[in-house]
Amino acid sequence: MAPDILDLIRSTIRDVPDFPNPGILFKDITPVLANPSLLAQTIDGMIEATGITQVDKVVGIDARGFIFGALIAERLGAGFIPVRKKGKLPWQTRGIDYALEYGTNSVEMHLDAIAPGETVLLADDLLATGGTAGAALHLIEQAGGKVLGSTFFIELSFLGGREKVADSGPVHSLITY
Ligand code: AMP
Repeated sequence: MAPDILDLIRSTIRDVPDFPNPGILFKDITPVLANPSLLAQTIDGMIEATGITQVDKVVGIDARGFIFGALIAERLGAGFIPVRKKGKLPWQTRGIDYALEYGTNSVEMHLDAIAPGETVLLADDLLATGGTAGAALHLIEQAGGKVLGSTFFIELSFLGGREKVADSGPVHSLITY
């Protein structure tokens, strides 16, 4: 992607201090989503970074990962699979608990979402500590999916999340802080 477009995308991401908790600098991506040209170039960039042209399923994580994952899946001619917060999926699920800074969280995926041997790309809006993406990757691997890699719009590299997900294949991000 051209450096000037990347700069434009970076400057369109809005920093919101102290949201949702004091001390958190929230990366608000909605101004990028609202701009048709930047949205299209972001999706292209997230795909291009992976070098993937063919994949069976794209997994997106609740909730902003659904936006990126579904658009990426459509572009790649792949199916889209949601990983959701506990209790939201209607069919039989496989779940996993993972540690947050304070407490734990749980995510689930439908048991029949990924067939053994299918190739999978994971997509999410932001890689922070890597707990969420790491949990989603475990669910994919437990289902027998073959992870080709993970692609994030934003990576907060100072939180070290990349180390938690790197075991499951190459990790790509478009904008790094
Ligand atoms: P983590 O499990 O720590 O990697 O957190 C990843 C998830 O938390 C992402 O899916 C983001 O939606 C959200 N998140 C964490 N930190 C931020 C932040 N500073 N700005 C926006 N979203 C964040």
